[in-house]
Amino acid sequence: FPFSTYVVLTIITITRLISTVGKTELTGPNLVPSNISHRLRDDPEAIKLASSDYGNLVRHSPLAVFHPSSIYDIISLIRSSYTSSVPFHIAARGHGHSTRGQAMAPNGVVLDMSALRRNRLGGGISPVFRDPSLGSYAVDVGGEQLWIDVLQATLQQGFAPASWTDYLYLTVGGTLSNAGISGQTFRYGPQISNVHEMDVITGKGDLLTCSPENNSEHFHGVLGGLGQFGIIARARIALQPAPKQVKWVRVIYNDFSAFTRDQERLISISGDINNHKALDYLEGMLLMHQGPINNWRSSFFPSSDHPKIISLLVQHRILYCLEVVKYYDEHSEHTVDKEMQELLRGLSYVPGFYYEKNVSFVEFLNRVRSGELKLQSQGLWDVPHPWLNMFIPKSRIHDFDSGVFKDIILKRNITKGPVLVYPMNRNKWNDKMSAIIPDEEVFYTVGFLHSSGFDDWKAFDVQNRDILRFCEESGIKVKQYLAHYTTQQEWKNHFGVKWGSFQERKHEFDPRMILSPGQKIFNNID
Ligand code: FAD
Repeated sequence: FPFSTYVVLTIITITRLISTVGKTELTGPNLVPSNISHRLRDDPEAIKLASSDYGNLVRHSPLAVFHPSSIYDIISLIRSSYTSSVPFHIAARGHGHSTRGQAMAPNGVVLDMSALRRNRLGGGISPVFRDPSLGSYAVDVGGEQLWIDVLQATLQQGFAPASWTDYLYLTVGGTLSNAGISGQTFRYGPQISNVHEMDVITGKGDLLTCSPENNSEHFHGVLGGLGQFGIIARARIALQPAPKQVKWVRVIYNDFSAFTRDQERLISISGDINNHKALDYLEGMLLMHQGPINNWRSSFFPSSDHPKIISLLVQHRILYCLEVVKYYDEHSEHTVDKEMQELLRGLSYVPGFYYEKNVSFVEFLNRVRSGELKLQSQGLWDVPHPWLNMFIPKSRIHDFDSGVFKDIILKRNITKGPVLVYPMNRNKWNDKMSAIIPDEEVFYTVGFLHSSGFDDWKAFDVQNRDILRFCEESGIKVKQYLAHYTTQQEWKNHFGVKWGSFQERKHEFDPRMILSPGQKIFNNID
């Protein structure tokens, strides 16, 4: 169809949907038919919210926003599209913290998961239980739940997930659709490696329970699957006993080789989860002469030491900060200092540039929140965010440092926001899952977490493109994380040898290409 006809047909479908949806018959012991037509909203307030995201770079209006009260409402909605002569697109919007419209549905329906969070009977987070098949503790959580709520609920019972993101106001379904990475990934794997089982609603409106043993193709496809194969209704997350406190250390380097050598040594020692004297978290970041010493991601260095750090920066223009954490509780508080010293012995940071803190486990995990609230109070949280996140093979990280950090970034002189750099172990990822990482045992994540003004974000986009071009021309085989592309050819390149199975899974689980159109993998929507 020409595009305009398509739009008209979609409007007709949606109008029909509003009057007929909810009459879908569902079978099964707990599946109660529900009338859901009143859950569609097309008022300006609902449409406006669903047309933007954290990135504040693109805007796409849906025709309607769906506010489910149960997963059966979602099943009804998807079935209405699947069985319609002209299916309409549906995008789950977790917390809308994507940066390039990935959770939008132009001329389709946005499924507002925050409504499920508010309305779901039973609250969406189960009590902690011992999973006999795994011999470990776990919790069942709704895909719509925020990680901060999962943390608070499980902590009340003395447990917590092992793998995190830096920021906790993201949904379970949103991060599991990407990977979910942070400083714990080198040791515990990304969040997608910590899921035992899921309930997923496919693009046909079927509710499937899947695990590595049962419906495994669907299980592996959905994890890191960018929302293409179904709506995550429930995920069973691995837990471990929660520590009470953390010892949190930052040291500063002026030499990139020493910085990465130390990072790689530490993740190789601490990657073994049976090694209890290991680190629990490791990240790293750039300090640049044009940026602030502390930033919204975390305020760490005492202000009395800022002049000293600035003078080192003036000398070197760029510094590298290693950040590590070791968890402890009342049983290990007497040994944690010694164990940390052992781990850090022989590191080559600049003498005198060692900083440490002891904070509660929650304060550490929720460290970004205070920066967020501060920016919100200044009206600076909702600015454009032209972010670039990527994975870089270890063998080329020095070329990346000289070509990108020391050349593009320093010369342009516009990067002020956090730039993260830290390594992870490939063996903590599962290659059967959809997430894409470089083909080397150790690889780095680099995140340019730019905030910009409304008028100047394009300069950051140009810089992002130049970084990607530099990598391509230098043969550095980077993979974007939270990737955004505009053509299917670019997605094919991104998925490489996995493209065939990704496409097959799409045909099997969402054959009418209904779900997550904002990723622009199977539906070019610009
Ligand atoms: P949304 O942006 O709403 O959705 C993302 C994608 O998932 C969309 O395609 C959507 O359709 C799909 N989706 C959403 N819910 C479901 C569901 N239930 N089932 C199926 N598909 C679904 N990421 C990290 O890995 N590590 C970090 O440390 C980290 N820090 C961040 C800090 C900030 C301040 C921000 C804004 C983002 C950060 N992210 C991080 C990125 C974050 O993981 C992604 O942006 C994620 O997509 C956001 O989650 P969301 O819940 O808002 O999802």
